[in-house]
Amino acid sequence: MLRYSELEPRPPYEASSVIFEISTGCSQAVPCNFCSFYTKSFSLRPIEEIEAELDEVATWPQKPRRAFLQSGNAFGIPADRLISILELIREKLPWIQTFGGFTRVDDVRRLSDEQLAKLAALGASDLSIGAESGLDETLEALGKVHRAADITEQCARLTRAGITYTLWYIAGSARAGRCLENARVSAEIYSQAQPKRIFLTTLSVGPNTPLGQMVESGEYELSSDYETVQEIREFLAGITCPTIFDCGQESNLFQFRMRVPEGRDEILAGLDGLLAGDRLSKTSRSRFMPAVIGGKWVR
Ligand code: SF4
Repeated sequence: MLRYSELEPRPPYEASSVIFEISTGCSQAVPCNFCSFYTKSFSLRPIEEIEAELDEVATWPQKPRRAFLQSGNAFGIPADRLISILELIREKLPWIQTFGGFTRVDDVRRLSDEQLAKLAALGASDLSIGAESGLDETLEALGKVHRAADITEQCARLTRAGITYTLWYIAGSARAGRCLENARVSAEIYSQAQPKRIFLTTLSVGPNTPLGQMVESGEYELSSDYETVQEIREFLAGITCPTIFDCGQESNLFQFRMRVPEGRDEILAGLDGLLAGDRLSKTSRSRFMPAVIGGKWVR
């Protein structure tokens, strides 16, 4: 039985990957202002435990071709250790060809070009990066360590090394009244970064987080459903690079996934229809709105 020390987020696009927990928690000294994903503090999993799990997986009849490494920033653990773990997995489970996992923009910055090249040669691909926004004021409010310029800079390094990536975007994370600006600037930054995929989630704030407390005290006003949908439309319309636009998180206001630019017009028309109707609150934020508005589901 593989060990998972807590309920950890796994991207839906990694549904068929085998998950190995190589660390717990997130190594960022002060968690981001909205984050309540991890209750365990950051630690490295002993290599012997990882090895025992690999031996167990080697006996499975299924031979997964991809592994997703947990936890909060598995690709931010010391590079030598990460490289050794990938080598170990390849040795024990040679059918695993590629590796994904969460990483932060500042984790990428700490890796040398040589280390990135080594990770690429071992099969690191489609890393999940919590970029969240391309607007500095939003990144600051969210407590992110990186800024917009870091996203384009570090993504260019990944591209040069041959490592693809998914950039996460949190709709509704800018202050009320700032979402359209957040969308426009972010679309520019994300387009420059040229991700394989953009994964869009909608902000949900835990009450025990710094941002949750700011929302409760009225210091930070969240956007309404209407403004959040306007933001998603503006962001999608502004993406100029070919990519997969994935709004498939179940907790989102609605779900769709398609390729840009091919599938975009259909989704924009659906969003326009939603904005023209009377289903969206212009004053409040709901967490769930089960409305599939179209889109082709692509891998
Ligand atoms: S980097 Fe990710 S996992 Fe770490 S505190 Fe921020 S949101 Fe949470």
